[in-house]
Amino acid sequence: MKTLRLLPIGNVDDRFLKDLCPVVEEVLRVPCKVIPTHLDPEFAFHGERQQYHSSDILRRMQTLVTPDSWRVLGVGMVDLYIPILTFVFGEAQMGGPCAVVSGHRLRQEFYGLTSDRKLLRQRMIKEAIHEVGHTLDLTHCDDYRCVMASSHAVEWIDLKDSSLCTTCRTAIMP
Ligand SMILES: [Zn+2]
Ligand SMILES: [Zn+2]
Repeated sequence: MKTLRLLPIGNVDDRFLKDLCPVVEEVLRVPCKVIPTHLDPEFAFHGERQQYHSSDILRRMQTLVTPDSWRVLGVGMVDLYIPILTFVFGEAQMGGPCAVVSGHRLRQEFYGLTSDRKLLRQRMIKEAIHEVGHTLDLTHCDDYRCVMASSHAVEWIDLKDSSLCTTCRTAIMP
């Protein structure tokens, strides 16, 4: 059976990644495994912006897609961007096979607040499912509670559920 493979991007807590698997498995109904190596994102670093170009990371990730991969999701803690935006929480290749998410701006510390590991985990789960949803050709959903709702701020992420609405779920699991 094909597996959703999680690829650590740079330095990421292994437990944090393993923790993502059961939830992602439940929502997307596909086995999930952490790849036992990591991708060093330095090649995607932009000196002036002090950020990492997520599209470059996706292109590199494509070379790591194996025949047994259903989708490959990169999970990192570095600040991601695409040229037209100040930052992105993640990026996906529409229709697959790769997506990437970062916890950098999902951390309360980024906003000068006290660290909250549980909240970070919740946000990470939602972003992970959201980006994998794009690799399954799902576009943004108008239902603000659906995990496929567009969110450019953590407050919006906190408003959504970690699950797909009926319309989105039916679209990928008819
Ligand atoms: Zn999106
Ligand atoms: Zn939806």
